[in-house]
Amino acid sequence: MKKLLILFFLFSSSVFGQDLIPTSNGDIKITPILHGTLVLEYGGKTIYVDPYGGASVFTGQKTPDFVLITDIHGDHHNQETLDGLDLKNATIIAPQAVAEKLPKGSSKSIEVIANGDSKTIGGISILAIPMYNLPETEDSRHPKGRGNGYILDLGGKKVYISGDTEDIPEMRSLTGIDVAFVCMNLPYTMDVDQAADAVSQFKPGIVYPYHYRGTDGLADVEKFKSLVSSNAPGVEVRLGNWYPEN
Ligand code: ZN
Repeated sequence: MKKLLILFFLFSSSVFGQDLIPTSNGDIKITPILHGTLVLEYGGKTIYVDPYGGASVFTGQKTPDFVLITDIHGDHHNQETLDGLDLKNATIIAPQAVAEKLPKGSSKSIEVIANGDSKTIGGISILAIPMYNLPETEDSRHPKGRGNGYILDLGGKKVYISGDTEDIPEMRSLTGIDVAFVCMNLPYTMDVDQAADAVSQFKPGIVYPYHYRGTDGLADVEKFKSLVSSNAPGVEVRLGNWYPEN
């Protein structure tokens, strides 16, 4: 029986690529889906982050109670993917720039949240923080204030989702982050050296490189891992299956 359980565990973790993070009030289940897209489950609630890649990439997932969207670009607000999902029980949490593009009536509700705002909905607290490119220029792909990074409090664990950003001071000064999802792709966000340097400064308990496909292919997340491991050995770097078709 024990062997069977071990086999089942190996099978389920390799096939579905899920991780469990224990809290004082049950586990947080993390499932990388694709690029910047993930599913979190906690306390009976299912949270989709930046659903993208078509509804079929969510096959086998529970229907969402919450959908967090960080920004307007197609790998974050992907209307075609949203249209294929069952959102009748879902609250979409998004910045204003995204909310104004969402068709009315396609989800249970829409909550607009701006940088610096926090909301507690359905027992989950959500803080929006800035995400933007450096230096701040007029033609920036990601101007400060438009998109949201998010920090969720799930059973006392703080989960940070960077969105598309560089190693901004607001990221570097984070404290008490248990699990971080940090982007690294050029030319859209930052390179692995910047990401590793920032992560080594704010020292989350666990960091997942995510959103790491750029114009030159996938970023070198092994290099990110070795940089973080030598500069901040207390930070655990987890490499997930973010690009299942590669
Ligand atoms: Zn993106």
